[in-house]
Amino acid sequence: MRLKKALGQHLLVAKDVLSKMAQLIDPKENEVLLEIGPGTGNLTREVLKYPFREIHLVELDPQMVSFLMENLRDKRVRIHQEDATRFDFCSLGSDLKVFGNLPYNVASLIVERTVLQHRCVREAVYMFQKEVGEKLQKGPSWLSTFVRTFYHVEYLMSLPARFFRPPPKVQSALLRFKRKEILPQMDLEDYKAFLTKLYSSRRKALKSKFPEELLVSLNIDPMLRVEALKLEEILLLYNTWQKSRGEKR
Ligand code: SAH
Repeated sequence: MRLKKALGQHLLVAKDVLSKMAQLIDPKENEVLLEIGPGTGNLTREVLKYPFREIHLVELDPQMVSFLMENLRDKRVRIHQEDATRFDFCSLGSDLKVFGNLPYNVASLIVERTVLQHRCVREAVYMFQKEVGEKLQKGPSWLSTFVRTFYHVEYLMSLPARFFRPPPKVQSALLRFKRKEILPQMDLEDYKAFLTKLYSSRRKALKSKFPEELLVSLNIDPMLRVEALKLEEILLLYNTWQKSRGEKR
């Protein structure tokens, strides 16, 4: 099959790595799984060796979809020819485990989508370009904070390019997002807008973005830059800032 670079088609071919990944995904008897970008189904086939209830495959490329339809004969498989960056995960279930060797060009959009639908996604295991994975785990970036508000992020392993066909120009990293027990209740689009504001012009002091009195009242030094803030401080700032906006209206 001719692979499409524009769709980030780098297939995982190393057998040991595929079985290790399936082991880390760790499907369980009653689980509903969702795989993003299954491609030719290399990883899917490893995962199918485990017991679970059903697996949904979301793949954009019609050529891959016909290949999967012909080659994956398992009653538990449901194939959706759709764009994962727009797909409604919650239409599949309310307690999903999502995974995928992601198309790297849209990986950030898929992470954002996952967080927006965190109510239905208990866990996600995603393969990223290594730098993207490291930054998601450690920050600083609005998306890293967005993820870490709802999920514990665990760096599972790094993978060299030689495990893929064709090999990408970059190394890869596998991460696990495990949803937190206690989830903040918030308007996610509003929180996202706050975070993108907070992380814009990252070198500027916080006082250039938020009222100085507000920062002082929260014991946050107005001269600090965003990367100095802990997640708890960011949440505190968001809650207080949001309330103060509410009062002004
Ligand atoms: N999981 C396979 C293939 C990974 S390559 C393996 O490990 O071998 C990434 C896959 O994502 C490709 O099959 C590509 O067609 C698909 N893809 C790219 N953009 C997509 C999108 N927006 N939605 C769903 N799938 C997409």
